[in-house]
Amino acid sequence: MAVVLADGRGAPADMVLEVVQYGHPVLRQKGARIEQITPEIQRLVGDMLETMYEYEGVGLAAQQVGHALQLTVVDVRAATDRPSTLEINGQPAALEQHMPMVLINPVVTPLGAPETGPEGCLSFPEIYGDITRPGSVEVEAINHEGQPLKFRCSGLLARAIQHEVDHLNGILFIDRMDWKTRENLQAELEQLRAATQAALARKKK
Ligand code: ZN
Repeated sequence: MAVVLADGRGAPADMVLEVVQYGHPVLRQKGARIEQITPEIQRLVGDMLETMYEYEGVGLAAQQVGHALQLTVVDVRAATDRPSTLEINGQPAALEQHMPMVLINPVVTPLGAPETGPEGCLSFPEIYGDITRPGSVEVEAINHEGQPLKFRCSGLLARAIQHEVDHLNGILFIDRMDWKTRENLQAELEQLRAATQAALARKKK
């Protein structure tokens, strides 16, 4: 996404950022509210979109690129085998016209009955698990232009937004796995956490 700065210059090219992995403390930090959409925030939004597409994710939270902020980006268009619905002002809306979504200070209200489905996370490479969440939600947020957003959604979009908004509050999908799934992944999770922490310790030296 090209973001143009207030002084009229085109923004520098969006960059692919490093995605932090499980074991990095920023993933457990609650994001600060964004009170002003500065050029730095717009730049971060552009870089986060670039990063999400580079790694073929359907969503990315600011914590995953090292910033504890209430900011996430989502784009479910590529996941054609997992449908979503979107409703704005009580009317069905065309998904493609509202992607990617940039959600700043999002508030999610659960609506539908719980549904179970598979999830992965760019901060947990090769780790997947079934997670049960409300099947549809109402979302209120502002976008990167400061415009208020309010919509209802279901399917993959509802799942992705709930996963990302959890990140903004320091909650990870492994926290929502049932004990059996979590137990089966325990060794892999421990290995990932140890590797991340060892890499962080090396960086500090
Ligand atoms: Zn995630």
